[in-house]
Amino acid sequence: MTSIVLFGPPGAGKGTQAARISSLTGKPQVSTGDMLRAAVASGSDLGSEAKGYMDAGLLVPDGVIIGLISQRLREPDAESGLLLDGYPRTIAQAEALSEVEDVSMVISIEVPDEAIIERIVGRRMDPHDGTIYHIRFNPPPTEAASRVVQREDDNEETVRNRLSAYHEQTAPLADWYQDRGVLVRIDGDRTIGEVGDAIGSAIASMGSRDV
Ligand code: AMP
Repeated sequence: MTSIVLFGPPGAGKGTQAARISSLTGKPQVSTGDMLRAAVASGSDLGSEAKGYMDAGLLVPDGVIIGLISQRLREPDAESGLLLDGYPRTIAQAEALSEVEDVSMVISIEVPDEAIIERIVGRRMDPHDGTIYHIRFNPPPTEAASRVVQREDDNEETVRNRLSAYHEQTAPLADWYQDRGVLVRIDGDRTIGEVGDAIGSAIASMGSRDV
């Protein structure tokens, strides 16, 4: 089994692009952020441990998150690989993943910091189906407009911390994966459709390589 990693700063568009990539490749999308938010909402021990880090814009400790993903990889629908969104985020996580799973492609969606804050602060989610919108760039349809919600960690102060965590702990992973020949860089500072098309072409050009 081989998995695909969606990589990039917070607000790069990983979650937005994931549905399309998942249907192109048949690999289920697994977002560690979504898993952690579900754990927080359920009031589990894991959720209580993770919440403080998430609210502060810090990464949850590697041990916690590596355990969570190892468990997820053992579920039946993970047999042909997963589309990993938001994991790995540290070299230690990438090393742990490489021990249990092959990664055929790392799609790095690149967006400059200046664009990130505006994107994240305007981000909203429809709690009915998880669809992600932006109040200016991709506004929700009228029927969803009154129910969309903002993530607790999508405020400017926390976003700045999340960006620092990204640059210090996560960005070095791009070189780590480039050295292993699986990194594909995508300019994410374009429309949702353009970024999606670029990712679609990158996946198609993998040709006979197993994605
Ligand atoms: P996301 O939804 O991917 O932006 O993740 C939201 C928050 O969950 C992050 O700011 C971290 O606190 C935590 N988180 C998600 N994935 C990871 C990960 N792979 N490693 C550590 N913390 C994570």
